[in-house]
Amino acid sequence: MGIVVQKFGGTSVRDKERLFNVARIITETYEQSNSVVAVVSAQGDTTDDLIEKAAEINPSPSKREMDVLLSTGEQISISLLAMAIEAMGYPVKSLTGWQAGFFTDSNCGSARIHRVDTERLENELGKNNIVIVAGFQGINKYDDITTLGRGGSDTSAVAIAAALKADVCQIFTDVDGVYTADPRIVRNAKRLDEITYDEMIELATLGAQVLHNRSVELAKKYNVELEVLSSLERKPGTKVKEVVKVEKMLIKGVAKDDDVCRISAIGVPDVPGMAFKLFSMLAARKINVDIILQSIGRDGTKDISFTVALSQKQLALDALKDICSSMGVQEIVCDDDVSKVSIVGAGMQTNSGVASRMFEALGEANINIQMISTSEIKISVLIERADSKRALSAIHDAFFD
Ligand code: ADP
Ligand code: ASP
Ligand code: MG
Repeated sequence: MGIVVQKFGGTSVRDKERLFNVARIITETYEQSNSVVAVVSAQGDTTDDLIEKAAEINPSPSKREMDVLLSTGEQISISLLAMAIEAMGYPVKSLTGWQAGFFTDSNCGSARIHRVDTERLENELGKNNIVIVAGFQGINKYDDITTLGRGGSDTSAVAIAAALKADVCQIFTDVDGVYTADPRIVRNAKRLDEITYDEMIELATLGAQVLHNRSVELAKKYNVELEVLSSLERKPGTKVKEVVKVEKMLIKGVAKDDDVCRISAIGVPDVPGMAFKLFSMLAARKINVDIILQSIGRDGTKDISFTVALSQKQLALDALKDICSSMGVQEIVCDDDVSKVSIVGAGMQTNSGVASRMFEALGEANINIQMISTSEIKISVLIERADSKRALSAIHDAFFD
């Protein structure tokens, strides 16, 4: 008998029909002599609707109260799914994140899991119950409810799989695996049979929302066997693992991220220590800087540009306002109309010409590159947002057609 953790996203549990579909997947797995823990997200667009509701009451509510609100979405799903399973005649218990032993830090809205105390989970499994756990949520040391950040139910599922040493963690969603690009944008995207943890971490971090990036980091750390598959079709999905079969794919995927803006400090005095002053001040405010570009000094000044997530834009602009006059910076400008498009693949470490092929595709599509950043297994470019879908397809075609 094995332990199987199955996670079902919002679209997979959006209504009565889908809930019973998920209940059937879970009970079939249970019938195959497995202990089953299912982790579920809020139904359909519930989380977005709750965010809108909050904004009608208070445009800047505290993060604590937002987490109290947002965690309710998952609580609805677990009870309804448990009722469906009860109706089918199986023993089942639903547990909120805190009942399931999720202890997190106090960073409401993007809390990190400190530990999963599995006593209650094991107790319920020991009684042969199917256990349904609310994803995306936990509790901090003050007993306050926390949430793990958008898409965080994937991470809840992997954390449970790691804590219970489960045989497999299956992420059921509305596509049948991980593709070479978002299949809703790039029609000819190809489904991958397997992908390495490292490649998947990069793809997820760079905008492929099919998996929460922290879920893949956790899976790598604890060696959790991860599979992404469809809740609507019974067929194998994509395996995410440490090592994959040797194959000739130069890159594994293309991703785009619209949650980005570019901030530029114009006319920074061209003297030593300026970049340090600027970025240490951003770091002190926990602002995560991504791509950085510095121009060559001319007439005693230079420009420094960098990108941050849209949610950190105001924080970054406020921080810069505080020190720019003392640093002698002439002007701060911000551009929201940008997207980051990236390619990912371990194959680029051993092959030349990958970057030039990507830039050629953009050039032929008449798309201007504003910034470039690279690491061992990825290349990212910053471009105008209006061009981002076209860029995704053009780059995808250059590598996969
Ligand atoms: P869930 O609600 O099940 O967590 P998400 O909406 O978070 O589902 O993730 C699934 C979606 O991720 C798909 O519908 C697809 O549009 C999108 N997606 C983005 N990039 C990729 C990719 N490379 N492969 C598969 N899906 C992707
Ligand atoms: N319901 C949360 C969200 O929409 C968490 C999740 O779906 O994973 O982001
Ligand atoms: Mg998701």
